[in-house]
Amino acid sequence: MIQIETSWLLLLPAMFGIGWLASRWDLRLENRMDERERMRQQRSTFKGLSLLLNEQPDQAIEALVKIAQLDPETIELHFALGNLFRRRGETERAIRVHQHLANRDDLKPRDRDHAAYELGRDFLRAGLLDRAEASLNRVGNGKFAAPAKESLLEMYQVERDWKKAIIAATELEGLQGKSHHTEIAQFHCELGQEALQRKDLAQVESSIQQALLAIPNHARALILQGDYLLALDRPAQAIEAWDIIAQAHPAYMHLLADRWMAAHTTLDKADAGLSRLCQLLETQASGELLDIVQKHMTKIRGSEATEAMLVEVMQHSPSLSALSKLAETRLALAQSNGSAERISDLQATLNLLKQRATSLARYTCGNCGFRARRFYWQCPGCNHWEAYSPRRSEGAVPSGPSM
Ligand SMILES: [Zn+2]
Repeated sequence: MIQIETSWLLLLPAMFGIGWLASRWDLRLENRMDERERMRQQRSTFKGLSLLLNEQPDQAIEALVKIAQLDPETIELHFALGNLFRRRGETERAIRVHQHLANRDDLKPRDRDHAAYELGRDFLRAGLLDRAEASLNRVGNGKFAAPAKESLLEMYQVERDWKKAIIAATELEGLQGKSHHTEIAQFHCELGQEALQRKDLAQVESSIQQALLAIPNHARALILQGDYLLALDRPAQAIEAWDIIAQAHPAYMHLLADRWMAAHTTLDKADAGLSRLCQLLETQASGELLDIVQKHMTKIRGSEATEAMLVEVMQHSPSLSALSKLAETRLALAQSNGSAERISDLQATLNLLKQRATSLARYTCGNCGFRARRFYWQCPGCNHWEAYSPRRSEGAVPSGPSM
């Protein structure tokens, strides 16, 4: 029988105690190392931020890249840094930050999409459109799918690639569950307008149909339809198409009134065409339509009839531009049978009125307030479609942008 000495038995609890103490020591050592690591990362973060604040972005990126390698939780910091650079116009640096993220293999799909989206925005800002398109097309079907598609749509419009814009807008409708029919109709009209210029009439017809399918009785599509029929030498049908504008969208008539008169003249119906435009003046006398009617009426019916028409307009829709047109017509009348003194008076009045009317008459974007002398389907200020009121106004010039 093996004899165990009682003194050894007494040592057992002591050994357990030593073991327990050693494990606690190990744990504390580990915790202390973790704590040191965290502090090291924290110091690197502060160092990175301080380099950033001290305008040393290159070193800041390096420091922050190190943190991201040590701690994947700092991804958001990277995104913030990249976006900061882009906002400051430092697109090259923004690209470097986002590229670094996009190249990492350990990112979650959502973060990879986010990186591809941000990189696409950087390339877009830098004008590298091919690379922007490739990066934005890499974005998957998650949270960033709709913003990426919006950026692609914005890019295709800058490139005037209307076919791709139509596809992107249609896909965006699916992603956002909201209609982009106004833009789609306008993109078809842009395609149709370009086709009309190169006399590809089959393409014009197809574009008009597509635009009218997106928005029935769409004003621009109907204007284009009239132009298309005029190109086919069918003025009567062109007038029919434009008459829908006269009924449904009279405020847009100034955009086609000259061609309307040309079509009527071809059919030897100039006076009838003019009468229809005069009718519209009852509600549309504030805009360019009045200029066009005055021009054609002077030619067809003479200055006296024009003066009577303008006096009537001044009674129901007084405006600086109508008053200026009236002075112009009265000057023409005086030049044929008035005294030199009256001519000189009218000339001075006309100069003053013209100057005021021209400086105040503007089309205004309902979205951003951008004011312009000519009408735009797409606002040059905010890129919104159909944001301009077709009515020119003579309101006081606001502090907003204008051209
Ligand atoms: Zn605008």
